[in-house]
Amino acid sequence: MSAQPAESLPVIFPTVPGKVAGIVNMTPVTVQCQECGALATCETVGLPSKIGKTGEAACVLILSGFHFHSYPWSDGRTDNPRLCRPCRMARQCQCHRCREERRGA
Ligand SMILES: [Zn+2]
Ligand SMILES: [Zn+2]
Repeated sequence: MSAQPAESLPVIFPTVPGKVAGIVNMTPVTVQCQECGALATCETVGLPSKIGKTGEAACVLILSGFHFHSYPWSDGRTDNPRLCRPCRMARQCQCHRCREERRGA
């Protein structure tokens, strides 16, 4: 993969049909932040690559920290893409979940 200029827009891949939004590949399971385009796989979250298909998706989703936002955004935004932790934190949300997460929970 070649280096991208910082100002180029991230490529957001389409979700695999029938999967939860943000799962963009199943072999290997790949989860994407739908804002900055960061990708997470077993490898990036530090899992052994051979944990089996069923566990793989769940583990990558949980360990990547690429989540939907569980509460209303405190600034009134109504969108809810799957976001990596830095993107969620960058929204400066003051809800209880984001405040906990900012403290490292
Ligand atoms: Zn992101
Ligand atoms: Zn929040």
